[in-house]
Amino acid sequence: VSFHELGLAEPLMRALVEEGYSTPTPIQAGAIPLLMQGRDLLGMAQTGTGKTAAFALPILHRLATDRRAPPRGGARVLVLAPTRELVSQIAASFSAMGRHLNIRVTTVFGGVGQGNQVAALKPGVDVLVAAPGRLLDLVGQRLCDLSQVEVLVLDEADQMLDMGFAKPIERIVGLLPRARHTLLFSATMPATIATLAARLLSDPAKVQI
Ligand code: AMP
Repeated sequence: VSFHELGLAEPLMRALVEEGYSTPTPIQAGAIPLLMQGRDLLGMAQTGTGKTAAFALPILHRLATDRRAPPRGGARVLVLAPTRELVSQIAASFSAMGRHLNIRVTTVFGGVGQGNQVAALKPGVDVLVAAPGRLLDLVGQRLCDLSQVEVLVLDEADQMLDMGFAKPIERIVGLLPRARHTLLFSATMPATIATLAARLLSDPAKVQI
């Protein structure tokens, strides 16, 4: 398939050309049509396969075609990732592909002061990419409201569990609307991930690369 056949909104097609992406990678060809239909997704894929764009493009398509103001102090889309580096990379991908959409993307992670992160969140953002520990910290201080999240992505879920984020993830998910679109990506599929997926995903499509 081509990106054109996937039916992505025109501002995304322009960004893809500018980024030099000419053909979808296998995970993109597999996952994007399912996500455009609104299916929950369990993705087994390593970094380097193009998995970030596999979830960012259909999410951006949704933002392009269903425009509304993000909730104050909150986000429409929440992406959880284990490390500051990955959080930053994912946010950079959303910003790059979403450059013609006029959306707000911000990041939350520990190890730095929270002031700038809180200020960026205050007016509300379309996409919040966050490490679980700091996000829960901000929620506990009532500085972030997750009650209006429409789409949840857990990226590198196995690594998040290995880093001890099982409890924070449970607490965060408990604050989200039950009716939402949920995506979970993991490089490996141990029993702990299968259990988490069974609890969080609703009739998920599975894509393995
Ligand atoms: P990821 O697996 O998301 O970390 O992506 C790995 C690298 O592949 C990143 O540098 C992307 O910019 C690049 N990439 C992702 N999708 C495509 C594509 N369809 N064509 C060319 N490069 C891509």
